[in-house]
Amino acid sequence: MSNNNNALTLSAPLSGPVLSLGNVPDEVFASHAMGDGIAIDPLNDRLHAPCDGVIIHVARTGHALTIRAENGAEILMHVGIDTVELNGEGFALLVENGARVKLGQALVQFDLDRIARQCKSLVSLIILTNGERFELRALAGQTVEVGQPLLQITARSTSALETAVDNCALEASASVRITHRGGLHARPAALIRKTAQGFSSTAHLRFGEKYAACDSLIGLLGLGIGEGDEVQVICRGKDAEAAVQALVAALSASIKGEHHAPAVAAPRRANTEAGVLQGVCAAPGLVCGPLFRLAGIELPHDSGNHIASEQLRRLDTALEQVRGEIRSTLDHARQRKSIEEEDIFAAHLALLEDPALLEAATAAIEQGSAATHAWRDAIQAQCAVLLALGKPLFAERANDLRDLQQRVLRALLGEAWHFELPAGAIVSAHELTPSDLLQLTAQNAVGICMAEGGATSHVAILARGKGLPCVVALGSEVLDVPQGQRVVLDAANGRLELAPSEARHAEVHQIRDAQKRRRQQQQAQAREPACTTDGVRIEIAANVASSAEAQVAFDNGADGVGLLRTEFLFVDRRTAPDEQEQRQAYQAVLDAMGDKSVIIRTIDVGGDKQLDYLPLPVEANPVLGLRGIRMAQARPELLDQQLRALLQVNPLGRCRILLPMVSEVDELLQIRQRLDELCTTLELTTRPELGVMIEVPAAALMAEQLAEHADFLSIGTNDLSQYTLAMDRDHAGLAARVDALHPALLRLIAQTCAGAARHGRWVGVCGALASDPLATPVLVGLGVSELSVSPLQIGEIKDRVRHLDAAQCRQLSQGLLDLSSARAVRQACQHHWPLS
Ligand code: PEP
Ligand code: MG
Repeated sequence: MSNNNNALTLSAPLSGPVLSLGNVPDEVFASHAMGDGIAIDPLNDRLHAPCDGVIIHVARTGHALTIRAENGAEILMHVGIDTVELNGEGFALLVENGARVKLGQALVQFDLDRIARQCKSLVSLIILTNGERFELRALAGQTVEVGQPLLQITARSTSALETAVDNCALEASASVRITHRGGLHARPAALIRKTAQGFSSTAHLRFGEKYAACDSLIGLLGLGIGEGDEVQVICRGKDAEAAVQALVAALSASIKGEHHAPAVAAPRRANTEAGVLQGVCAAPGLVCGPLFRLAGIELPHDSGNHIASEQLRRLDTALEQVRGEIRSTLDHARQRKSIEEEDIFAAHLALLEDPALLEAATAAIEQGSAATHAWRDAIQAQCAVLLALGKPLFAERANDLRDLQQRVLRALLGEAWHFELPAGAIVSAHELTPSDLLQLTAQNAVGICMAEGGATSHVAILARGKGLPCVVALGSEVLDVPQGQRVVLDAANGRLELAPSEARHAEVHQIRDAQKRRRQQQQAQAREPACTTDGVRIEIAANVASSAEAQVAFDNGADGVGLLRTEFLFVDRRTAPDEQEQRQAYQAVLDAMGDKSVIIRTIDVGGDKQLDYLPLPVEANPVLGLRGIRMAQARPELLDQQLRALLQVNPLGRCRILLPMVSEVDELLQIRQRLDELCTTLELTTRPELGVMIEVPAAALMAEQLAEHADFLSIGTNDLSQYTLAMDRDHAGLAARVDALHPALLRLIAQTCAGAARHGRWVGVCGALASDPLATPVLVGLGVSELSVSPLQIGEIKDRVRHLDAAQCRQLSQGLLDLSSARAVRQACQHHWPLS
């Protein structure tokens, strides 16, 4: 080694043929995503130190380590490709992290044969990881022996360094735990990609030993990151810090719409009952009708000698056509404010632009493939990667890719997707795609059954949103049922009855008719007030998140808005809405509600909901950190601005303000005082009512003290369950147990109502429990006088109230407080107040 002021020569740590990074059989290394460097295909079984230095990182599994040379250059040495999968077997570390080592010292001993047999490749990497400070020059010829000169590393000049720093060399990184339900699947990955695109820095995610650039959706999916996994975000460039902050926020945010997915797809049950196929419910409902089998496109054999330029042009045109179609689906979804649809198709658009996919298809075309076959093969290769991860959620995401395969093939073949769906058909398919589903609803299909798929797939989310009964994972037998056979789909129970008798048919029709009639009756009376049989009035208001939803609530008979979640105005944008925009948005909600009152909750971000423009410190336990009203401590001006906007709506008397996550009286008093000051400044004589959310146990236990200073209390049972039961409200595995009918919750609700009553205040419930008809009598019995429910359930809950006797509810619900579990409470409710 020679080491003058500028140059350091690295000696070969291994013996063997030398390769440039571009020839390494690994996309991440080959793309220089990890940094510049060189590779050796080793013939020996020991990795030696390429220079004097300190070992600054050692992979637990022994297959990689990083050395810092005396001039500060950091060099990663990685033995073989995908060797992390050996989990340390076949590797013996000869040094420890932090060790000072000498040039030529043996660092790792490895089992050459085993790696050759079990891993993708033995090719080993020598990578400079802090390339912003140093430059590299290769010194070796085609092969090297251990100790021979391999690379020269030169420190960049100060001016070059400044330029490099200015252009791209600032590096920032942070670790984050993935909270997205089901891990980093297509929709969150699309969010990550979109976030990264907002910055000039390059961004990568590192998971274990795997890396992916944030601009490749497929690369991100290929990491196979599951819920709860920890990943590292690494950004390089001028705005690296901000990019890391935003990506951490995006990675830890949960996606709208996912909360509504059923907890976990139950494993497929065996088909034991004759004439019945058993699957998993993805969207409930009971229907009967002819079964219509939908098949995918099969391609004929390809001769493989096409003119590349022509095929590339065909592919381009087809891709552009499909992009256009998806964009118009997206526009429709936006107009209808269908967030779920929007998220799904935005992810599809991103997949369609994915560099990995396009490169694979282009490469195949350049080898002579037809555009159709190149596209199909590129998609199938990526599906294989996702399926190989062995995680059901990622396998489901392969279905999104297949959707794009079908759509582009249809465009390439010039095939209009048309088929005659018999009236009232139940459609069966191997696995349907989101765009299939939209078309099928447009053609009035009444039910869906699939051989494959899962209850958390995008198709399932869409089917639930559209109220279309859907059963997945029925097995391939469903594809053998003759076209047109009349069947019964009992989706709630995951059953497809293949040979229902006439009597069963008649019964299904009867049940459906009865349900329809009941719903019509409920809707007809939805605008009337809801009073119990003994005359107690219960307000049935709606939870909404926009003026469009408020309009739906009003049309469905809501007595008011019980909770406007104002986060809708603040999320998914790069800057905060100003006072004027906020005032207009709140006014629009008031206007949509006629003369009814509207409860507007101040912004509840922090925790799992992060904003790009509001970098809050990364917290170990964000749900226990700066969220809700506590955020006012960190950014008081944001709350102040919101209060000013709220005070300017007209008429102010119809606007009530609600504070989230309050845990002590002082928080309320401070905001009350600030509101008074603002009213004085704005010369207002009316003071809006000010309420407090009861969503942490401390608030429920302090309800009496809070009620002394608040105008009303509103119980958020979602968070109250989470904090009382110490169970994450979004935890798929605990979903069945995070039940707000737990006796502990009921005791807190009872205590809240009693505390409020001492000061003559009213109590509402705006958490999901309010929309559960089984809970209505209990809540009425415990003293709640307002239920804020999802807009489409207003008629149903009002109808439930009208059949209750409040005095009897009071008496019976006291007994429920002494039961031992949520399950026992549910059973007792069914017994006392059966749901028909
Ligand atoms: C709740 O916690 O019950 C609630 C209504 O608030 P959010 O669901 O918005 O946290
Ligand atoms: Mg809450």
